Amino acid sequence: MLELFNKFGASEHKLAREMAVLKTCSVLVTGSNRGIGLELVKQLVGRSNRPEWIFASCRDPEGPRAQELKQLAAKHKGVEIIPLDASKSSSIRNAAARVTEQLKGTGLNLLINNAAILRPNATLDSETAEDMAEVYRTNVIGPMEVSQAFLPLLKRASQASSEKGMSCSRAAIINVSSEGGSIKNILEWRMAHIVSYRCSKAALNMLTRCQSLAYAEDKILCIALHPGWVQTDMASTLPEQAPLTLDYSIQSILNTLPNLSEKHTGTFVNWEGETLPW
Ligand code: NDP
Repeated sequence: MLELFNKFGASEHKLAREMAVLKTCSVLVTGSNRGIGLELVKQLVGRSNRPEWIFASCRDPEGPRAQELKQLAAKHKGVEIIPLDASKSSSIRNAAARVTEQLKGTGLNLLINNAAILRPNATLDSETAEDMAEVYRTNVIGPMEVSQAFLPLLKRASQASSEKGMSCSRAAIINVSSEGGSIKNILEWRMAHIVSYRCSKAALNMLTRCQSLAYAEDKILCIALHPGWVQTDMASTLPEQAPLTLDYSIQSILNTLPNLSEKHTGTFVNWEGETLPW
């Protein structure tokens, strides 16, 4: 992983940053109170051409883990905290109704299904049915239901767009996946079995492929995106230190998103936009 990180030099990174422009009017990020989700919101807010609406959803906006997000939202107009528990259908429906009301007839351009859980300690032998079910509920059924609930808004954004093809500026679903779910690559098996997590991300990849087929007519771009192995709470539950900083991963992701088009829909890419094997 470190090799992957180092091969991308600072000057190339700067060039990529200069070329990329994300012209998204509205975005919703799930699980945005910490880790990758919070950093996405922070960096989106800091962009000169920032989206007018940033819906930062989290499951417990009044809890201690949402304080930083609350402070950020208080400082920046258009950052709206939306309660959304990805494991509860009613919460997802309520969130979609609230965002629909806020958008007042306009659509949602970009949906980032980021929220997920990982159960770190189980080996294949000690994995339980309960953990398998809970992880699948949050990491697969969650993104499926969130995408279903926000589909009318995504379609509306796509129809109203003057863009020609598919793009994150027009209408897109980005499912934050993991190379840990790649059947070909089987990343870091010796370090952690994390079978429930791997299976959930493999299923999320299939969901993404299905979404890309179903929503192609509506010109909604659907991508499974591996953010890299990034220093977050989730990564800190694994025995080795993650090589990528949050800042680097999210800068790269935000530079990659504008370069995604219909040729990428239904594919699995990493933070730099490189295609990964399923
Ligand atoms: P963290 O554990 O740091 O953060 C996870 C986020 O998801 C938190 O905001 C958490 O909220 C939220 N969340 C969990 N369950 C739910 C739920 N039921 N409803 C709503 N929100 C929920 O993880 P990361 O930031 O590292 O991970 C973000 C994404 O990136 C995940 O999809 C993960 O699988 C993926 N990823 C991460 C990698 C890494 O190295 N960090 C590598 C590959 C993929 P709360 O505070 O309420 O728990």
